[in-house]
Amino acid sequence: MKRFLLVLTLLLLGCAQVPSDEGQGTFEAPPAKAPEIEEIREPEAQIAQEPEAQIAQASGEPVPEDLSPEEQAWRGRIEAALEPAPCLPVPAPDYPASSYQGPLIDTHLHIPSIPDWDPEEEVTETPEGRFGGPQALLGWNVKMSEIACTIKNEGTRKNFAFFPVYEGEISARQLEIWKRTMEEYPEQFTPFIMSSGNDDQPDGFPTVGAATLREMLAVYPNLFRGYGEIGLYERENGGSPALPPDSQRLLEIYPLVRENNLVVYFHLGEGDRDNFETVLRQNPDINFIWHGDQLSTDEIESVLSNHPNAYYGIDAFWGHDRELFLLFVGDSKEEYLKKLNAKFTTVLNYAVQDWKDVVERHPDQVLWGIDRGDAVWNYDLEVGQAQVMLARSFIGQLDSSVREKIAYKTAEKLAQGLQ
Ligand SMILES: [Zn+2]
Repeated sequence: MKRFLLVLTLLLLGCAQVPSDEGQGTFEAPPAKAPEIEEIREPEAQIAQEPEAQIAQASGEPVPEDLSPEEQAWRGRIEAALEPAPCLPVPAPDYPASSYQGPLIDTHLHIPSIPDWDPEEEVTETPEGRFGGPQALLGWNVKMSEIACTIKNEGTRKNFAFFPVYEGEISARQLEIWKRTMEEYPEQFTPFIMSSGNDDQPDGFPTVGAATLREMLAVYPNLFRGYGEIGLYERENGGSPALPPDSQRLLEIYPLVRENNLVVYFHLGEGDRDNFETVLRQNPDINFIWHGDQLSTDEIESVLSNHPNAYYGIDAFWGHDRELFLLFVGDSKEEYLKKLNAKFTTVLNYAVQDWKDVVERHPDQVLWGIDRGDAVWNYDLEVGQAQVMLARSFIGQLDSSVREKIAYKTAEKLAQGLQ
């Protein structure tokens, strides 16, 4: 379990980094838990008394009895992840007239993994994310059907979904879940394989190697449309070192990306400009999306100008406020929404100030995304609606000729494999 937590939290936190002028990499200790959090967690605590048994009972399909106890537990986890849930339509909020009102594609959606700890291991509480928020675990505290319902009702009609696939025996179970998810939601999800390596180890890597990736992709041929998000930055707390885009490990992966007609999604590391541009130049037929604040705005624009196969993902609307970021990955949905509502105009103004000119100068190479997925409540409808309100307000401030492009058209083209 330790490995899973580190891998997931590092990947997620890495891609939601605070602006570098506000102490990037020096995150504070998680805030102390407020008393009401315990109340919110009560139902989970009940479920967790006998998690595997409860999951098996709750699953969408019966678990065969002739399987070993361990295999039964895994089957239970898979079925719990895929269990249907009712999805009642909700009316769309009234957006201000100045907002963008058209379709939206979220190009940065993390999908949680099922629990990866040994079925024999007794885990009775929802693991905490790094900032104290309840970690999202599929089939444990959120179902795929609930995530699909949230994105439908919040008004993002499609998304680029990063499906985690780990090394080891869990990979077959995860791949089965993603295969069945795509059968159920072929339109909503554009599937990316997020094949993390052992990035919690000082000698580890943020992605599996080419041979392992090849095996993963071969299980369900043509299932995936993208490879990522892969965070190439150095992991904190003794995890894996930075992996440059032109490292041998990645140079061996690009042919596989080409063979499978995948789009790449990177979170670059510090200083990954020249080496990224080398890779962009060497692989003009592969489309690369990247995000993160490692490059300056000028550098971002330069890369976009020089390489038609480069795309930048805009997300992390924090209004230059580290506190808002910490709340988004933290314990309390209520506190996050309260702060966001109070600072909505400030956050919006910073987004416009930072990105309006960039989008208008590179209208065919910029994408919008939320980058949710750390705390389980990131998948709640109110949070999705707040993010969509922010996005629609931001896009509404852009020149009318670029609005539809950043909102969905560029993403649609990328998903179809067009350049
Ligand atoms: Zn991310």
